[in-house]
Amino acid sequence: MHYQPQRDLLRNHIILVTGASNGIGKEAALTYARYGARVILLGRSEDKLQSVAAQIASEGGQAASLFTLDMAICTPADCQHLADRIAELYPRLDGVLHNAGVLGDVCPMSEQQPAVWDNVMQVNVNATFYLTQALLPLLLNAESGSLVFTSSSVGRQGRANWGAYAASKFATEGMMQVLAEEYQNRLRVNCINPGGTRTQMRASAFPSEDPQKLKTPADIMPLYLWLMGDDSRRKTGMSFDAQPGRKPGISQ
Ligand code: NDP
Repeated sequence: MHYQPQRDLLRNHIILVTGASNGIGKEAALTYARYGARVILLGRSEDKLQSVAAQIASEGGQAASLFTLDMAICTPADCQHLADRIAELYPRLDGVLHNAGVLGDVCPMSEQQPAVWDNVMQVNVNATFYLTQALLPLLLNAESGSLVFTSSSVGRQGRANWGAYAASKFATEGMMQVLAEEYQNRLRVNCINPGGTRTQMRASAFPSEDPQKLKTPADIMPLYLWLMGDDSRRKTGMSFDAQPGRKPGISQ
């Protein structure tokens, strides 16, 4: 995507990022802070989040807040409690990036372990839903809030061996479409499909792939910026590719 954002694109924006401890989410949090946002970091490891917050501070960004939440075990009440704590500190959320996710097992449907399946659904779908429900009032307090989910090419077209992960990303696309229709003119709701990106999850999915052939999280940030800033104000209910034209699957 060729997008040249203004340096102050996200000034006065308060943006929450899930899975901000690593990979794409960490890069998104750092990038949003570089463009002026006040960032709220969510993850399960306080140490990792603190190191991201320290990097934001060292780059001169606005002080980040961090909250821990293990999405593998969180309940709707935990998410409401978290939203209440955020509401004590912030009047609104201008953006939420649902980025945290797990891969599960890459194997045929007949071999998918139910416990692993449940974990993928819990993190990628259920906890994401609980968080969305709890954070919606804060998003609706924003003048032009942006709710962004993270999908995948296997969330649009099923592929052998992608079992729970593919099903969870289809559910993500569905959640986005339903919310986009429910909140028309009040909140924009979209999906990003990052496309193959150099992270730990990608390395687990394709252990034989040469990571150097993949885009880095930093390379795909233009779309992440565009969807959080005012330039995408009228877009809702859409699923965007961070690497348009990239063929899904292993990079040769
Ligand atoms: P990583 O594995 O690098 O990062 C995943 C993030 O999710 C980490 O911050 C991780 O935290 C967090 N997370 C995992 N489990 C939990 C949990 N139980 N509670 C809270 N946080 C948790 O993955 P990527 O950066 O590659 O993926 C980011 C998103 O992009 C995912 O939704 C993924 O499905 C999607 N995606 C990625 C692609 C790629 O090629 N990389 C392609 C298509 C989609 P921790 O640091 O503690 O492990």
